[in-house]
Amino acid sequence: MKIEQMQCTGNWMQIDDVNSIEYLLILCAEKNKISADGKLNNRITWHTDRHLTRDEVLAFLSDGAELSTGTDWYSKCRSEKKPVQAPARDYPEGRKLACGHTVYYSADVMSASLGICCADCYDRMSD
Ligand SMILES: [Zn+2]
Repeated sequence: MKIEQMQCTGNWMQIDDVNSIEYLLILCAEKNKISADGKLNNRITWHTDRHLTRDEVLAFLSDGAELSTGTDWYSKCRSEKKPVQAPARDYPEGRKLACGHTVYYSADVMSASLGICCADCYDRMSD
């Protein structure tokens, strides 16, 4: 897991250095508390609240939580958000095949004896 730390500019900076990541994990464990019912809580403190363990810090971060690492508004870190990208289409507008279906990827185009078709129709289009 990669960690991002917020800078005072409000931008997130990726932390690559293992020692820096370990330090942030320690800060997260110190600065964040968990209530008896398992809720993350870094504001109100009840006597039943306790600090996070390292494993809990990692679990919350991989869950997408932003954890406080200090008292400044920007003192927080999170796990790196990986943008989910759909693979680029080979045929952005779609390609209509002899079987009547439209495909968007060249890998879906099959050449059967009765014409160009999709994988679903390959058996039907093969003589
Ligand atoms: Zn088809």
